[in-house]
Amino acid sequence: MSVPTRSSPLQSNAAYADYFRRTPTREGYFGKYGGALIPPALESAMHEVRLAYETISRSHEFISELRRIRRHFQGRPTPVYHAARLSRHLGGSQIYFKREDLNHTGAHKINHCMGEGLLAKHMGKKKIIAETGAGQHGVALATAAAYFGLECDIYMGEVDIAKQAPNVARMKILGTRVIPVTRGQRTLKEAVDACLEAYMEDSANQIYCIGSVVGPHPFPMMVRDFQRVVGVEAREQFIEMTGNLPDIVTACVGGGSNAMGLFSGFLADPCEIHGVEPLGKGPQPGEHSATLTYGKEGTIHGFRCYLLQDAEGQPAEVHSVASGLDYPGVGPEHCHLMDAGRVQYTTATDEAAIEAFFMLSRMEGIIPALESAHAVAHAIRLAREAADPRSILVNLSGRGDKDMDYVIEHYGTGGRYVK
Ligand SMILES: *Cc1c(COP(=O)(O)O)cnc(C)c1O
Repeated sequence: MSVPTRSSPLQSNAAYADYFRRTPTREGYFGKYGGALIPPALESAMHEVRLAYETISRSHEFISELRRIRRHFQGRPTPVYHAARLSRHLGGSQIYFKREDLNHTGAHKINHCMGEGLLAKHMGKKKIIAETGAGQHGVALATAAAYFGLECDIYMGEVDIAKQAPNVARMKILGTRVIPVTRGQRTLKEAVDACLEAYMEDSANQIYCIGSVVGPHPFPMMVRDFQRVVGVEAREQFIEMTGNLPDIVTACVGGGSNAMGLFSGFLADPCEIHGVEPLGKGPQPGEHSATLTYGKEGTIHGFRCYLLQDAEGQPAEVHSVASGLDYPGVGPEHCHLMDAGRVQYTTATDEAAIEAFFMLSRMEGIIPALESAHAVAHAIRLAREAADPRSILVNLSGRGDKDMDYVIEHYGTGGRYVK
């Protein structure tokens, strides 16, 4: 795809001018992806959430309360930062970061958790529930629950509970109940199943808060809408700083929420948009979690998407050094934007992400989350390979405090990566 560099903010990408009015459809389809492929027992609960969201999200009260929360509790707007030293080191391209790592709790997930918590409160629910793998979504949701005075149950596989002690402690301190899931592999997939069962048992008092732009309609739309603030802010800030649009906008893609947040600000602009998937240890099945790059169409957790699957069509084993990126499915909107040719998807390996983690730490004093380091790795590669200088805006989705013990244990303090 060729897009002119140094594009003027006055240009636009006309095909996407009224995109958000058309997408998704009323049934929750982004092209042929998405939908709500759920058991009958869940249909009325999802219908209730959808109706409530459609009404409440347009009310003045909801909008102004969310705006106030973002400003005074989360610390928004988060800045856009020009990484001048890193850019100089890499050659002529200019790299900028949208600093979602500076949100309260240290990542973008709080953007949709506060929205979901506020919706639960307006719907008169007593409790919010969710599953968590590494614990990041659990901590963000536990924070929202404490803020709104809601009860919170987080379903977590026993294996993950043992691995993620600091996040388990955080959730408990915040007043959340962490419910161990003991069946099957005792990890994320079983936690999702257990949480869905609990939701079906009592959807009158509780609401299920999904952690990314995945799951049945209306979640991919709702989570995108709550994350859109990232792209809307970043676009305005970038133009104010530079007088121009970025040439390239990029973010890492696990389920795809931080990427959809940033991308949704730029769809109607003449910018290139790049999503970065985790290539892990390599392209063989089981070594990576690059769903859009290697997956085939399938169904998982109530929606259609590209899916990494085994010979029987079951979700495949996946790997990434970043535990927030290892999901075998991906948000339906990303599938649609890839098929439409609007967003290009590429990959970064574990090794490239680790190099980027150390480079950003050493050159800018910012320790990124390993998830975000995949997008940083892509920007580094673009800057190294660019024939002409480009301006690259990267979503720095989270901070790396949660990853430091792991990195030190497996990779040392970085001498090998940064000279
Ligand atoms: C969870 C997480 C991600 C991946 O989730 P998306 O829905 O793909 O954004 C990325 N970065 C950080 C810091 C995370 O915690």
